[in-house]
Amino acid sequence: MTTNTPTHDELRRWVREVCERYPGEYWREKDSKKEYPSEFVDELIASGYLSALIPEEYGGFGLGVSEAAVIAGEINRAGGAAGPCHGQMYMSTLLRHASEEQRDYYLPKIASGELRFQTFGVTEPNSGTDTTRLQTTAVRDGEHYIVNGQKMFISRANNSDLLLLLARTTPLDEVERRTHGLSLFLIEQEALDPEGFEIQPVEVMINNDTNQLFFDNLEISASCLIGEEGMGFRYLLDGLNTERILIAAECVGDGRWFIEKATDYAKTRVVFERPIGQNQGIQFPLARAYANVESAALMVERSAALFDAGEPCGAEANMAKLLAADASWEAANVAMQTFGGYGFAREYDVERKFRETRLYQIAPISTNLILSYLAEHILGLPRSF
Ligand SMILES: Cc1cc2nc3c(=O)[nH]c(=O)nc-3n(C[C@H](O)[C@H](O)[C@H](O)COP(=O)(O)OP(=O)(O)OC[C@H]3O[C@@H](n4cnc5c(N)ncnc54)[C@H](O)[C@@H]3O)c2cc1C
Repeated sequence: MTTNTPTHDELRRWVREVCERYPGEYWREKDSKKEYPSEFVDELIASGYLSALIPEEYGGFGLGVSEAAVIAGEINRAGGAAGPCHGQMYMSTLLRHASEEQRDYYLPKIASGELRFQTFGVTEPNSGTDTTRLQTTAVRDGEHYIVNGQKMFISRANNSDLLLLLARTTPLDEVERRTHGLSLFLIEQEALDPEGFEIQPVEVMINNDTNQLFFDNLEISASCLIGEEGMGFRYLLDGLNTERILIAAECVGDGRWFIEKATDYAKTRVVFERPIGQNQGIQFPLARAYANVESAALMVERSAALFDAGEPCGAEANMAKLLAADASWEAANVAMQTFGGYGFAREYDVERKFRETRLYQIAPISTNLILSYLAEHILGLPRSF
């Protein structure tokens, strides 16, 4: 970390200043037109904040995950969504496993925003949660790999220059363990032959630029390979703690937004000649949701601090994601109930954020899979799959 590391309060204030230029009306309009929030993302990239985890020698901010979590969380707390741009912060895999040449070439361009690093192609129609059974293949052919297969639910593919792709390079029946024989590739999307690469939109309930990707005998350069062939699954896992912590921070941001919004509303909405917030039936759910969001925030801070100190943090990062996703969803429901019918009215933004925060129970990892990780890897219970 740099000697000029900003305090968390400073970071929060700076990010909030950018977010204030993009109020609820902006996000609502983008949501109703299903448009990518380019203006917001451009400004945030130009500000440099999304390069938080890129070391200074590559032109980034050189901050820790604790600071990156503050940035991601503040975007959601301000009523926006970090989802359209958070890929730009997921640096762990490249920092740890890309070659020196790849790091020297790509990291400064990602830090400056010249290249958008936003597409992560893992999920497939026949292998969602069970990643190791994915069917996309990359077969070595001289100085190239030939890619065939399909990816599902891939975010931001139309708004990214780079695609991080997970594909099988050794057939499943030829590897000792299912986690072997998968490889990661960093691919420049623009250079791809349109005959072999197609992006098709998938309509989902939030504004997310969600897509299917099709690979049909697509030739990519062998230089796209990250690290060693066959080690991609492990490399991907290495990046997951950062992703879990940043997503958890977004959930906390959402939770705080819901509680602030609902609390303000409860103070001013008068029914039976008194503010609804005077009723304990309104107060208690808000108070409980507040307690749960703030507890989750502590686990986010703890997991980020462990990560930044180079300590193991798998359990904490997973617990942070679990607790924060649950807390933001609870807060969303409480806000919806507090607003009554107005929660459904688009102009209050509650329904938009309600839809958005629901995703965190499913993606990028579902709640069940986190529970399974904690049960089997941390508590040592027998494996269920
Ligand atoms: C809007 C959106 C954006 C996304 N963006 C991306 C992206 O950019 N890149 C990408 O690669 N993926 C992306 N995803 C995919 C996301 O990561 C997957 O949807 C998620 O991992 C779950 O996979 P699945 O949908 O195939 O569910 P499935 O694997 O079919 O699981 C269905 C349900 O069964 C449960 N389940 C499955 N097995 C077990 C078990 N053994 N025990 C208990 N419960 C189990 C799961 O928890 C889940 O609730 C996105 C998804 C959405 C909806």
